[in-house]
Amino acid sequence: MDKPVALEKLVSLCKRRGFIFQSSEIYGGYDSCWDFGPLGVELKINVKRAWWRSMVQCRDDIVGLDTSIIMAPDVWRASGHVEKFTDPLVECTACHHLFRGDELTPQGTCSICGGEVGPSRQFNLMFKTFVGPVENAAAVVYLRPETAQGIFVNFLNVQRSTNRRLPIGIAQIGKSFRNEISPGNFLFRSREFEQMECEYFVHPEAATAAYSQWKSARYEWYTGLGVPTEHLRLREHASCELAHYSRETTAIEFFYPWGWGELEGVAYRGNFDLMQHGHACGKDLSYVDDRTGERFLPHVIESAAGVDRSLLAFLFAAYDEEPDKDGIRTVLRLHKSLAPVKVAVLPLSKKEQLCTLARDLAARLRPHFATAYDETASIGKRYRRQDEIGTPYCVTVDFDTLSDDAVTVRDRDTMAQIRVPSGDLVHYLVGLLT
Ligand code: ATP
Repeated sequence: MDKPVALEKLVSLCKRRGFIFQSSEIYGGYDSCWDFGPLGVELKINVKRAWWRSMVQCRDDIVGLDTSIIMAPDVWRASGHVEKFTDPLVECTACHHLFRGDELTPQGTCSICGGEVGPSRQFNLMFKTFVGPVENAAAVVYLRPETAQGIFVNFLNVQRSTNRRLPIGIAQIGKSFRNEISPGNFLFRSREFEQMECEYFVHPEAATAAYSQWKSARYEWYTGLGVPTEHLRLREHASCELAHYSRETTAIEFFYPWGWGELEGVAYRGNFDLMQHGHACGKDLSYVDDRTGERFLPHVIESAAGVDRSLLAFLFAAYDEEPDKDGIRTVLRLHKSLAPVKVAVLPLSKKEQLCTLARDLAARLRPHFATAYDETASIGKRYRRQDEIGTPYCVTVDFDTLSDDAVTVRDRDTMAQIRVPSGDLVHYLVGLLT
């Protein structure tokens, strides 16, 4: 298996080219949060759009939802998060560093100084804050640590308002917050991140088949967007790893430079959440089959993906370096649907006549594709800049364009160049990009 590019190289490219910056950098940086720059925000939107398209818009059994981040605290008591959403926390008795229980040396000592560690205690990962002007226990609320609960508490609202029969999937993309003990590995573990979650409600007898379909469907989403199969695996969780709500869970893992890490969890949650909320709020949350009259709590298959971890995996999978005549060419071989810029228009020289033509051409392309225009530096340097940010096509306007009204289209991956009449360009690029 190819070793993924070193983390430092990717972090440096992300900063240099405006994908990702450290939060609050001018104040020395704030480790557990990240800001997405002009290219990063485009990439992130494209990741979310690809997920939404495949999960909601291309299916007739899943609908979307967008729920609030702050919810009634009762939700988190009923879901079990107040009591059980914890990680074991230990402190080194020598250097006083705080660790997650699974971060010690194999001998159970401090992985920084080798010192003895104190007893482990459970640390709740939910962020707490207060609503309203009075800061007392009655005003405590939580920032959601997952988007899923917003879906469960709206199950009947969605089912009744859409008048749907099972199976029904409800999908949501949004921010989640976890007060992680040890954030790190760039975007992989932060305290503020985004999730793409779908709760798929089925008849209990259909749950096992649905669980296995979802594992494959979600694995194929990543491979379809260019993650090589040798960097992707499905790993079934042992019973000791299962979250409090889960009957079975399979993690979709990516081979990051630091080893295998979870991208997404596909979990069979049974009817745990609807049951808990039904008991806690005193309402019957069952589904009634209008054909048979059968009344039951649906079972749920959850797919819970991280926007940031997926984005990071797409970047690692895309990063490539190859020798060329000027040294090393760095290319982000991003899937075309994910690339932040689809087409770059480049006049061969800074001659005003060429620049005017090229600017006009870029303006014609912009309504169709994310288009960049660049007239600075040599053409070779500009190609490299576009390669480095993953732009699939560069369109060059040269002196021949003035007489033949044709332009050169260069392919990022093969570097092959082809001459296209400028009047046919939109049509030609639509064919390549869709
Ligand atoms: P891990 O074991 O790595 O902490 P988890 O099993 O707690 O992850 P889930 O609760 O299943 O994660 O959350 C679903 C997805 O949300 C994860 O697969 C991941 O992509 C994303 N995610 C969870 N925690 C974080 C985090 N702290 N930073 C970034 N993404 C996260």
